[in-house]
Amino acid sequence: MSDDAVAEHPAPGRLRQVTPNAAVMLCDNPGVMTLDGTNTWILRAPGREESVVIDPGPDDKKHLRRVADAAGVVALTVVTHRHRDHTGGLKKWEALSRSPIRAFMPEYCINTSTPLRGGETISAAGLRLEILHTPGHTADSLSILVDGGAGPGALVTGDTLLGRGTTVLDGTLADYLASLQLLARHASGRALLPGHGPDHADAGPVVAGYIAHRHERLDQVRAALDELGLTAGQAKPMKIVRHVYRDVDKRVWPAARKSVRAQLDYLVAAAPASD
Ligand SMILES: [Zn+2]
Repeated sequence: MSDDAVAEHPAPGRLRQVTPNAAVMLCDNPGVMTLDGTNTWILRAPGREESVVIDPGPDDKKHLRRVADAAGVVALTVVTHRHRDHTGGLKKWEALSRSPIRAFMPEYCINTSTPLRGGETISAAGLRLEILHTPGHTADSLSILVDGGAGPGALVTGDTLLGRGTTVLDGTLADYLASLQLLARHASGRALLPGHGPDHADAGPVVAGYIAHRHERLDQVRAALDELGLTAGQAKPMKIVRHVYRDVDKRVWPAARKSVRAQLDYLVAAAPASD
């Protein structure tokens, strides 16, 4: 085995082949929100020279250069969502790759004026990509079904599904639950290629776990409201965080606050109107 062969996540700064069609370059930007760092995915069918790059990552010259070296001719760059750990390096990446860069939001599209939309299919690098609009983590979050080439299909999820833990909601919970249902219809038997954390051979059980977790947290919020004698409309998010996220690292509480805000909004919208 050569010194360069790395089988396991995390391997920052080293290209790691995950499926016959997909390799990952993990950026060395670990953190409480980025886990081990941002995964930049390089997709190409075996034997193809050109590639599709998903999420060049943050403004990190070393990382972008490594991705450029590994990616060769970049036919297309796709951005899964607007957060800086995925988009901060776009300007430098454009200068390195000269590729069209496409995202849901027009302000992140470079060398093209056509934003991505759910349902669009793209042929590139010997692969067939189908774009899914999966809002919830953010309103502009996209996931990508990857077929063709060799081996089983894959599902690229950005931060909509992570390789471990759960994602934070910057969008609405109703959107997120609908997105999880959409992913559940496609996930089974596909490799999960997430924006952070380890990849998984089968995305199916991961999506099912995410759906179960969200319903569990909703039940916990309902129980906390009961205990505190508050309605979803009355409760302050931080009060619920202190109750429900007792067991969770305090550093994620500000992020959890956003999720609880989303849960309370969801429960308010779902509550039967009282005269
Ligand atoms: Zn991220």
